[in-house]
Amino acid sequence: MEADTYDALVIGGGPAGLQAALTLGRMHRTVLLVDSGRYRNGTVAHSHNFVTHDGRAPDELRRLAREDLARYATVELREATVESVEETEDGFVARTSDGTVEARTLILATGMTDELPDVPGLAEAWGREVANCPFCHGHEFADRPIGLVGEGPSIAELEAILVPIGSEVITFGHHDLVKVERLEDGLLVQRRAGPAVELAGLFLHPSTSQAAPFAEQLGLDMLPSGCVRVDALGRTSRPRVFAAGDLAHVEELPVPMPSILGAAAAGQAAGASAVRFLANPDSEVESHPFTD
Ligand SMILES: Cc1cc2nc3c(=O)[nH]c(=O)nc-3n(C[C@H](O)[C@H](O)[C@H](O)COP(=O)(O)OP(=O)(O)OC[C@H]3O[C@@H](n4cnc5c(N)ncnc54)[C@H](O)[C@@H]3O)c2cc1C
Repeated sequence: MEADTYDALVIGGGPAGLQAALTLGRMHRTVLLVDSGRYRNGTVAHSHNFVTHDGRAPDELRRLAREDLARYATVELREATVESVEETEDGFVARTSDGTVEARTLILATGMTDELPDVPGLAEAWGREVANCPFCHGHEFADRPIGLVGEGPSIAELEAILVPIGSEVITFGHHDLVKVERLEDGLLVQRRAGPAVELAGLFLHPSTSQAAPFAEQLGLDMLPSGCVRVDALGRTSRPRVFAAGDLAHVEELPVPMPSILGAAAAGQAAGASAVRFLANPDSEVESHPFTD
């Protein structure tokens, strides 16, 4: 079903956007989800730590989600890239690689981009033997040496978290790594000083940034984490704009906590907030949390 002006435009087809679209569809709101097909976990074969889906391929999760959405007549999916979003008096106009779209509310679920240190071999191993989150991938490296890259309190904390899992935990400084090489079942790390080390896997914190320019285009409040400031209901500093998933951060949480389940939960909250806004725009504007 195609609408002239959609009740909601959801940008992003990862777990946050897919769940937001489901929530809106179940409430008989017209929703267009636009997905450019570039997912943060695009290199990952098996994702973990999501009860009922532990070990499921991320592609398979997205396929199942699209199957769920296909049951709702008011939900439309489009494979395209949104290029710009502009706020109008009563909604938004978005320019996409597939034409112009109008919507009354907007849900941003465009995720974050990871920028890896410039070490040969890291990109090839990213999402495989190299990852950022021990909750997602630590167990898979159990009882073998695990490496960590970085320094400071967050790395010391990560080291302590990994102690019960690895046979040993080896910490490398940012400049220690010369090259990494994928092995049949593990990773060979060439160091600047000292012999090469064979590991089951390696954790590091890449630098991250918004994957899309819409938060900036709309002038949304941001947090020092580089994420869009949201409340627990996915409301941003603009009343008609909601945000969910890795790109957003609830201020009360000390750090963003990216996960598939967390992104889907945030997508549900943002979808429900958009539904509430569409039903009662005036009172939602009045009770908006960020009118400071
Ligand atoms: C290496 C790695 C491994 C991970 N493993 C796990 C794991 O095992 N378990 C777990 O729970 N979590 C894991 N995560 C975290 C998980 O992948 C993220 O938390 C989750 O994908 C966030 O979902 P999202 O919907 O916010 O963003 P994403 O899944 O990144 O989706 C973003 C969406 O926005 C779209 N998009 C961006 N810009 C545009 C645009 N201009 N126009 C249209 N569409 C656009 C993209 O195409 C995509 O559809 C892992 C992350 C990484 C990096």
